[in-house]
Amino acid sequence: MSNIKILPENLSNKIAAGEVVERPASVVKELMENSLDAGSSRIFIEIENGGRSLIQVADNGTGMSHDDALLSIERYATSKITRDSDLFTIQTLGFRGEALPSIASVSHFSLTSRTSEADTGIQIDVRGGRIDRVLEVGAPVGTLISVRRLFFNTPARRKFLKSVTTEMSHIAEAVSAMALGWPKVQVRLGHNNKMIKSWTKAKPAERVADVLGAGLRPDLMAVNQQYEDTTVKGWICAPRITRSTSRGIYFFVNGRFVRDRVLQHAVFSGYAGRLVKGQYPVAVIWIELPFDQVDVNVHPAKHEVRFVYQKRTHEVVANAVNNALAGTERTRWYGSIRKNPEPPILSKVAENKSTFDTRPHGQDKTVIRSDPNQNTPESSKKLQSQMITAHLKEQLTRNDIEKKHPDIKQNLSEMDSKFQKVAIAQTSTHAVQKHIWEKHTFSDLRVIGQFHNTYLICEGDDGLVLIDQHAAHERITYEQLKQNRHGKKQASQQLLLPETIELGFREAQILTEMIPEFKTLGLEIDPFGGTAFVVTAVPEPLVKRQVGPLIEELVEKIADIGVGNGLDMVLDQCLKVMACHSTIRANQILSNKEINALMVQLDQCERPSHCPHGRPTWIQWNLRALQKAFNRIV
Ligand code: ADP
Ligand code: MG
Repeated sequence: MSNIKILPENLSNKIAAGEVVERPASVVKELMENSLDAGSSRIFIEIENGGRSLIQVADNGTGMSHDDALLSIERYATSKITRDSDLFTIQTLGFRGEALPSIASVSHFSLTSRTSEADTGIQIDVRGGRIDRVLEVGAPVGTLISVRRLFFNTPARRKFLKSVTTEMSHIAEAVSAMALGWPKVQVRLGHNNKMIKSWTKAKPAERVADVLGAGLRPDLMAVNQQYEDTTVKGWICAPRITRSTSRGIYFFVNGRFVRDRVLQHAVFSGYAGRLVKGQYPVAVIWIELPFDQVDVNVHPAKHEVRFVYQKRTHEVVANAVNNALAGTERTRWYGSIRKNPEPPILSKVAENKSTFDTRPHGQDKTVIRSDPNQNTPESSKKLQSQMITAHLKEQLTRNDIEKKHPDIKQNLSEMDSKFQKVAIAQTSTHAVQKHIWEKHTFSDLRVIGQFHNTYLICEGDDGLVLIDQHAAHERITYEQLKQNRHGKKQASQQLLLPETIELGFREAQILTEMIPEFKTLGLEIDPFGGTAFVVTAVPEPLVKRQVGPLIEELVEKIADIGVGNGLDMVLDQCLKVMACHSTIRANQILSNKEINALMVQLDQCERPSHCPHGRPTWIQWNLRALQKAFNRIV
């Protein structure tokens, strides 16, 4: 007797469901793809309880005959391909014949469909993969599919479902992607009997602005390029509009929404030299190429593709983006300068412009001496200088090694960056910092001047200290914001002119859910119809800053980490973003008064030695080490 058995169809469907149906949003995506393949010009989606209770998709496509409808829920039943060779010239979004049987195997599923030739429609109810009943019903031409109680018979999967907000944000993302890719199709999305978005048939640029945010409209530039049989069209944003993740970049290859690293890289190449490191552009790009030049059968969820001529595709896309940007750059550059005057944060002009202070120690107004009794005890001082000398010693020996063996330089620098990461992690505890600064305060330092409008050069008892003004201020603001939040003290300030912001559809979903939470952070926001919002109050440190980019980054951050990971953690990340936005920047001249204030505030911080992201706020060179470096002592 053999041990190996062919799995019953119901079980193999459930296994396939594991790949195809990850969460409610995947059901929405598969059903919308079917509607688009059926030539629908209208797709209505209704969700209940983030998709746990109901996912319903209704379309006005071709519909199915009674026989086809019964076949459609069989595994590997598809009308879209018939022979081997078809697999390499796929023109439809679906082709695997897996979606309907997979979904039906893990839900209470109901399909109603009618073609224009038939007088009556057919309704098929399936429960956990087994047909419950088949009825002849009256129905409009098209197809309506209802999926109730998703994962009712796969508790492990059900357990992985996140909060309604998180699942809705995934659904919004899937629907947004489809809406972007198919501007000619009317799409409507409702949640718990409330319509949350309706897109009418539109021109591509209008749809892009409608999905990604009307605020982008003036900055959209057309991409249009043809090379042999490849066409690249789309809309991209001027480089001054950026995102902190790649979520604002959408690709459609022959109508299919894909995530593709080659294409993403191509867009970056097109933007080369125009983006700051770590920033992502906003771009919606449609690529049309012969069906036999792209393999879409790479992943069960079909969101990856392979190009037969990868390099060429990369080049065409990169060129298309570059040309679009180059064509409008001059006028935009001028326009953006006028539109965007950076508001002064503290005061941009220093009272005393001389960067180096030559007056004797202790007499200048920039000198902030502390209580003389607060000097470091000898032992701690000694320990500190030992630590730093040891570090410098290692640096010197390393320089020698590198000189003698240039080949190991690379290895060493890799090790070094690892070492630094470990060092930062280790020193980021309050205890260690306290140790280093024990009885020292930042106000003790004598400020010599500002270097590169970014670093404060200071003299301490033990040596030369450099402070990164941006990192330091970020730490201060972060702790202030955090304290205010935990003290439940509402530290927000009403804006004289409330600011209206327009978000993308998916972002608007997230923000709507987060309004009460943001209030606890001091951000007061009201919905203003559709995807618009009015910001009426912000925490004190954020007054006079641009509110729009802040809110966008906050929402992106939340989309990135997901609310499911614990609200407190999410809100803490939000505080870090807020701190960064309210902060004095690198490249800003500070007055003596501002520097003094910074030092005093740093002293009040619980963890003054690192910015909220873990970068150090100060570094020090010990006097002895400097003397050694100059060969004054051996
Ligand atoms: P695939 O899309 O890969 O063919 P599916 O399981 O998603 O597989 O669908 C099976 C078949 O059911 C499709 O090939 C199509 O013929 C039919 N079908 C599914 N949804 C619709 C719809 N909304 N309108 C018309 N036909 C549909
Ligand atoms: Mg399908």
